[in-house]
Amino acid sequence: MSHRILSIALDAPLDTEFDYLWVGDEPDTPEPVAGQFALVPFGRREVLGLIVAVKNDSDLDAGKLRQVIAIRRQLPPVAPDWIALCRFAADYYQRPLGEVALPCLPKSLRSEKTVALDRALKKRSLAKTDPAPDQPVSRPVLNDAQQQAVDAVADAQGFHTHLLFGVTGSGKTEVYLHAAERVLQREIAAGRQAQVLMLVPEINLTPQLEASVRARFPQLNVVTLHSQLAEGERLRHWIAAHLGDADIVLGTRLSVLASMPQLKLIIVDEEHDPSYKQQEGLRYSARDLAIWRAHQQQIPVVLGSATPSVESWQHADSGRYRRLNLTQRAAQNAQLPRVGLINMEVSKAPDGLSPPLIDALRARLERQEQSLLFLNRRGYAPVMHCDACGWISNCRRCTAFMVLHKPERRLRCHHCSLELRIPVSCPTCGNVDLQPLGRGTQRVEEYLQTLFPQARVLRIDADSTRRKGSAQAAFDTVHRGEVDILLGTQMVAKGHDFQRLTLVGVINPDTALFSQDYRAGERLFAQLMQVSGRAGRAAAQDGQATRAEVLIQTRYPQHPLYRALLAHDYEGFARSTLEERRSAGLPPFMFQALLRAEARQLQVALDFLTQARTLLDHDGVVINDPVPMTITRVAGVERAQLLLESASRPQLQAFLKPWMHALRELKPRLRWSLEVDPVDI
Ligand code: ADP
Ligand code: ZN
Ligand code: ZN
Repeated sequence: MSHRILSIALDAPLDTEFDYLWVGDEPDTPEPVAGQFALVPFGRREVLGLIVAVKNDSDLDAGKLRQVIAIRRQLPPVAPDWIALCRFAADYYQRPLGEVALPCLPKSLRSEKTVALDRALKKRSLAKTDPAPDQPVSRPVLNDAQQQAVDAVADAQGFHTHLLFGVTGSGKTEVYLHAAERVLQREIAAGRQAQVLMLVPEINLTPQLEASVRARFPQLNVVTLHSQLAEGERLRHWIAAHLGDADIVLGTRLSVLASMPQLKLIIVDEEHDPSYKQQEGLRYSARDLAIWRAHQQQIPVVLGSATPSVESWQHADSGRYRRLNLTQRAAQNAQLPRVGLINMEVSKAPDGLSPPLIDALRARLERQEQSLLFLNRRGYAPVMHCDACGWISNCRRCTAFMVLHKPERRLRCHHCSLELRIPVSCPTCGNVDLQPLGRGTQRVEEYLQTLFPQARVLRIDADSTRRKGSAQAAFDTVHRGEVDILLGTQMVAKGHDFQRLTLVGVINPDTALFSQDYRAGERLFAQLMQVSGRAGRAAAQDGQATRAEVLIQTRYPQHPLYRALLAHDYEGFARSTLEERRSAGLPPFMFQALLRAEARQLQVALDFLTQARTLLDHDGVVINDPVPMTITRVAGVERAQLLLESASRPQLQAFLKPWMHALRELKPRLRWSLEVDPVDI
């Protein structure tokens, strides 16, 4: 009988790995190796852990060690590189290794039973791609700018970060596909295996891209990884990536942590998109991890966007990233839309739509073209109000309003999900004439239906697409041309290639101009560029360029953000934003971390943060005063935060580690968490 001590990472909030005893029953039992998963007892449960080291002895008394229950030998071990990636993420974001390496696995892989795993491995061949489509797919001939971009990526030796700066409709997808093809062909020709990882910001964008990728590469095995996959599928796809069966993995942010032993190229589409940032648990940036991973593997990474994040732009300016420009729309005669502002100080719009926007919609209906209306606010009205006594629909559990949802006949809090029936009369004075204040997508939808009774209006937002698959079905009807006016939140703004769309109307974007979040302007600009970019993408018919139009309703037509938008001037916008950030001492010229605390009483949270502030010396790191969060109370819990800033990332990192240790030692009796590189402050 042989004995070994296994050092195992577990999904537990303790910054340590755990020693377990392994005993080989039979003389010929193969020894466990690092990278295998093992089932172990932990407290009163049995949990799956990752073996990170195999040792001969332990600092602990061997007699007290608990014994490994089972090793998942049916699965080849994950590569040391994968463990190193998880370890980097754990160190950088100040979490235990196990809280990174295990939650990113499919749930059924972590189960104490192996039925699902064994079945998935047996079905391994079924994860292979569907048979090739019958019609040959068209391959557009790349234009010069696309070709140069593909060459730069595919010929890159070792690690390079490429910032593919391409206006909307410039054919970035073609660049990704060609670059992937070239890299795969080159590796296969050299007798090596290869895999490509393509990240997209939104689950709803995966079907369109998946279809293009499959159609283009019918001989390759393409799998998707995102949170809406059925568990069995997710497991099969994860295994396909892990075994190297999947040539191309297409996924949302979580796929950046997929085990891909033959990874040769990473693509991050819409790299600026906020959804690459995970906002709970391990709060990581998938874009940043993708770059680290490419560096680790010494492979190229492509960050594509029409509106890169200003930090990426800054890196391109400083020469750290290689900038690749696509300045023209790719389709024949397709042009960028003309952007116009409707001055809402002058235009009257009692129902939210101004006369010029209504006229433009009517013209599209007459020409049987599609229109898109963008309003980043779901529900019917953001708040209900009593004119008689001033009552407003506050959520009793949050510092937020309850949103009126008329079709569902509910008031809903978007922060704690509390739901109430719409009151028939004012809860304070009994007035029966309660008024909705402001407007959301449902209210505009109702108005559109009275305005254009014949038009086919479709609303797409989180409420209309609650059922699984319904978002996809809705987008399909738009692509089939069965919708005249598409109305929606940011869900409709991103990457979709709508072919018949010639008008984009933007309703009420101004609130973001005065947000206290310093990133709000950047986000708004990107969003408006994105949504504008949905218009006029198709090749013009009969050689006649029909120019598409974007109309933005604003009270501040002189605002520099809108001026830059009119001129399609991302570069100018980025430059002035970076100048502001530099003089204000904000990222990317400053590095930040945020400590959050939650308690029943605000003072308890603030006291903890005050104590945290004085715990350790912090040379080179500024720790600001603790403050309540903007939305202080959510679901009855008060929330406060402490912002840390440093001009030096290493200095900040060097402080965080011992500080986290000291904070854990305090064993505070409240919920707290640290976020490195926070995006919402
Ligand atoms: P982006 O992602 O840059 O917004 P897409 O990749 O969606 O743009 O491409 C926009 C449109 O241009 C698509 O319909 C695509 O098929 C088309 N397209 C791309 N490259 C070419 C090309 N070289 N010639 C003709 N059409 C192209
Ligand atoms: Zn009242
Ligand atoms: Zn609430």
